[in-house]
Amino acid sequence: MTIIKNLSDVTNRIQKSAQQCQRDPRSITLLAVSKTWPAEKLQQLYQAGQRAFGENYLQEALTKIKQLEALEIDWHFIGPIQSNKTKDIAEHFDWVHSVDRLKIAERLSRQRPEHYPNLNICIQVNIDQEVSKSGIEPGALLSTAKQIADLPRLDLRGIMIIPAKTDDSAQQRAAFQRASELFEQLRQQHPNIDTLSMGMSNDLDIAIEQGSTLVRVGSALFGQRTTPN
Ligand SMILES: *Cc1c(COP(=O)(O)O)cnc(C)c1O
Repeated sequence: MTIIKNLSDVTNRIQKSAQQCQRDPRSITLLAVSKTWPAEKLQQLYQAGQRAFGENYLQEALTKIKQLEALEIDWHFIGPIQSNKTKDIAEHFDWVHSVDRLKIAERLSRQRPEHYPNLNICIQVNIDQEVSKSGIEPGALLSTAKQIADLPRLDLRGIMIIPAKTDDSAQQRAAFQRASELFEQLRQQHPNIDTLSMGMSNDLDIAIEQGSTLVRVGSALFGQRTTPN
């Protein structure tokens, strides 16, 4: 089955990239980005051992979470967040990578059910300072992180970045390197953070070389999406 072959290809890419820079491949988590794909596809990957899945669109995600509730999946929300969506996110996900303002974190904190484990949070940073992109400005990271880290029922775990689209690998590497430096600065302030969420199907190798601890991979696992996103 192609999807199983894809999983082993992606796992091999992660291992090779890690070895090339003397990193332990086990220090890198593979997040399977399953947006647009039906629950059966996720189930195939789950049966092959995959546990972490990432979704961008809330309604679509809630349907799959319900369909797959018998499985022990770690659900990661990685899409843009409108404030009227935070309650469902707080109640149905284990991780949120796309927190880009304090207000969203405050709502997630308030709406996380009390008997649940803390919700794991990454702050999305607009690393290339693109006008159209979500994420906080790199210069605002440390102060915002301090406020988020103080909120109950959330665990600040690190940062997430999506670099500007480019085929120039030097430019990709530079963006990942800046993210990595920012992550280290943040870790001085919050020694418990452990997650640098960066790298996708086309650039995960460079992201790992620059210190990524979690790669978010969609098309290399599931195939090309037919919808634009
Ligand atoms: C869609 C998406 C991915 C996966 O992209 P691929 O190029 O298909 O691997 C990763 N991260 C985010 C935030 C996404 O929206």
